[in-house]
Amino acid sequence: MRRFVVGGNWKMQISQVEEAVRITENIANAIKNISMVDVFIAPSFNALYSVGKSISNTNLKLASQNIHYLEQGAFTGETSILSCINAGCEYVILGHSERRRIFGETGENINQKVLKTLEKGLKAVLCIGETAKERAEGRVKEVNQSQLAGSLKGVSQTQIEKIIIAYEPVWAINNKFLNPDIEIKPATPHQASEAHAMVRDWFRQEYGDSIANSIQIIYGGSMNQKNAEELLKIDDIDGGLIGGASLTAKTFLPIIRSAEKLSKQDPEYEWDSNTLRFRK
Ligand code: PEP
Repeated sequence: MRRFVVGGNWKMQISQVEEAVRITENIANAIKNISMVDVFIAPSFNALYSVGKSISNTNLKLASQNIHYLEQGAFTGETSILSCINAGCEYVILGHSERRRIFGETGENINQKVLKTLEKGLKAVLCIGETAKERAEGRVKEVNQSQLAGSLKGVSQTQIEKIIIAYEPVWAINNKFLNPDIEIKPATPHQASEAHAMVRDWFRQEYGDSIANSIQIIYGGSMNQKNAEELLKIDDIDGGLIGGASLTAKTFLPIIRSAEKLSKQDPEYEWDSNTLRFRK
């Protein structure tokens, strides 16, 4: 069984550092006993360092929402991965549909950022996903596989272990800029299951069985405490990337707890005295 990963992407939603620190401390305290789920939070850049300091030595890990593909230089308004490492980041979210569709990032830009992230030893959470129009045109496979191929160009068999894929259908992301004309709703379990299996098949073709079976593919798009369990139960879904529902401990924690509960129910685990271990 693959470990669940649950990440919170705060986008540009919480601008006060004190508030960001308070919420992340609440989350970190509440997940002290969560042992089977990897949890990260990506606050705004201004809060990255303070949040990183306050959650160091806890189960809650820090993520950056983006990086520049170079480490240093005259790039006004950009953030170096070195600053993110200094703040304590272990993950970098890349290729989010807001970056691709609002800020014009291309497969090539994202690929450069993925390679830099891997070179520096951090995990890249690579987001992919089709729009409502692309889905209606029957292009789900083509669009997602082309985003995978473009963003992962030159990523070796060994490096791929540091990649997490976030399948985030654009039409399911709670963002009115991206989805002005449609009713935003999460993927149905059937739609999500089909897309995740298609992504895993791509890894099977490109990287072989062992990587296809171990790569974590998480779902993003209006995931919340009501639908999390149903989605996380699906075989090919290994966690969630959460926007709106990660902004408070009250709405984020139930999703993490659902993932922990499902891990513990997995028949591949068994209790050995008071420790939960993989069944041999
Ligand atoms: C996201 O933007 O990555 C996301 C999943 O947002 P939300 O959960 O708000 O739809």
